[in-house]
Amino acid sequence: MISLNDARDAVWQQVSVLPVIKCSYTDAYGCVLAADVIAIENVPPFANTAVDGYAVRAQDVQAVPCELRVVGELAAGAAPIIKLGAGEAIRIMTGAPIPDGADAIVMVEDTERVGSSHVRITVSVRSGAAIRAAGSDVTTGDVVFRAGTVMNAVAVGVLSSINARTVQVYRRAVVGVLSTGDELVDDGSVLKMGQIRESNRTMLVRMVQEAGATAVDLGIIKDDEALLERTLRDAATQVDALVTSGGVSMGDYDVVKIVLSRIADMKWMQIAMKPAKPFAFGLLTAGDRLVPVFGLPGNPVSSMVSFELLARPALRTMCGHGAGAHRQRVRVIVDEAIKRKRDGKVHFNRVFAQWGDDGRVHVRSSGAQGSHQLASSSMANALLEVTDGDGVEAREQAWALLIGPVLASGSNSVECLG
Ligand code: AMP
Ligand code: MG
Repeated sequence: MISLNDARDAVWQQVSVLPVIKCSYTDAYGCVLAADVIAIENVPPFANTAVDGYAVRAQDVQAVPCELRVVGELAAGAAPIIKLGAGEAIRIMTGAPIPDGADAIVMVEDTERVGSSHVRITVSVRSGAAIRAAGSDVTTGDVVFRAGTVMNAVAVGVLSSINARTVQVYRRAVVGVLSTGDELVDDGSVLKMGQIRESNRTMLVRMVQEAGATAVDLGIIKDDEALLERTLRDAATQVDALVTSGGVSMGDYDVVKIVLSRIADMKWMQIAMKPAKPFAFGLLTAGDRLVPVFGLPGNPVSSMVSFELLARPALRTMCGHGAGAHRQRVRVIVDEAIKRKRDGKVHFNRVFAQWGDDGRVHVRSSGAQGSHQLASSSMANALLEVTDGDGVEAREQAWALLIGPVLASGSNSVECLG
């Protein structure tokens, strides 16, 4: 067996960041910027009102209440056409440009209309009141986002607001995902003896997407060497990486092992961890490219844990995430004792991580821990590192890898199987 760290090194040394591409701001969500974004426009582009009210000259409304003559109206989207003079007001709606002559806005709540021609101002305002200056959000020339920033939903809104039509990002990895096994079905048919329903590629396709890459579902491949070889070779010409599930351990029909040993430069590993001891990584040549191949074990929980610990960080590295390729590893308090036996492996228990009233993160088991028991792992938001030995006592501290948001204190919304 090799250590998890050695396995990680073997993988991460072989993957590299994909090329930089120009992409439309509408496609940049989830991508990592490869260059700074510099504003070429002011936001807002012109001074405008922050409230619905009346544009005035501040000097006219120092002694209140006072009455001003209403000389016009300005809605958002309209360009001002009249200039405001002494003793005058213009009705104005949020977002409309400030008319010439005005230097403050009185909000409508501080006014009363007097007939159709006048307005009474009941509160005095200072010059500049309720005016949003041109460029007060973003000024031309500002570095709005630095290279390395991951574009979230708000950030793409900002790209839109500054008219950054295209941005330079690292290309998202396109990842082919397949399951192998004669026993697997996914067509909803009545199971024949020996058959089981497929889960791994359905899960892995979504895990690839959650990692920020693009998944290509290559389906279930029978334990047939020729078919698997053809599928892998064809797919390799169209993807940046391949993720396979099943067939990498010691069984007689572990065709992934047989085929990849023949067609790719693979490292077959037995990692000192549980679940997910068997794992394979290598490079498959496709034309002038080397396509990383992640051979995950078939047991569903092993597949999940193996993807989390080995494939996900590598795929995110390819997508340019740098240090952000990795999950956060945090110190947690283990609420209930977790027993285990010494076996030379680190165990990754699936747990629920939750904020405690003490401001610390606490964990408890998500349920049954067998490598075939996917249901009880499905809502886990952390993998607890239970190092080799007798286990962890209640209230002891340990390290955990957060694989989802920590649950709110007091929430007990997560249902789990025993
Ligand atoms: P293998 O790694 O191919 O020896 O598979 C190990 C175990 O995982 C066996 O019980 C398989 O039936 C099961 N298994 C393999 N692939 C899948 C899959 N895609 N979905 C559900 N179970 C699977
Ligand atoms: Mg199999």
